[in-house]
Amino acid sequence: MPKCEICYEDVDKVYTCKLCGVAFCEDCGDPKRRICALCIDEEEGEEEDLDEEHEDEEFEDEEEPEEEDEEEEEFEEEEEERDERRKGKKSRYQVR
Ligand SMILES: [Zn+2]
Ligand SMILES: [Zn+2]
Repeated sequence: MPKCEICYEDVDKVYTCKLCGVAFCEDCGDPKRRICALCIDEEEGEEEDLDEEHEDEEFEDEEEPEEEDEEEEEFEEEEEERDERRKGKKSRYQVR
């Protein structure tokens, strides 16, 4: 039975670290990447993650429900008495 060189425990299967060559169990590293726990930090530092998460800025046009019941009562007091200028009012009333 293989033996993990990191935790020194007999495990079913060990993986060889591609960096340091240590035999590690699945609990002491990343079997998929073949990196032991001791080298994971280095590996992550070398490989620059180009997978920048492009957060899609979704411009949601969700109108926020305005629960303001304040009715803006616009009292447009346009009581401007229109100068009823009767243009037709001819003041040429010639009084002789
Ligand atoms: Zn181990
Ligand atoms: Zn390693």
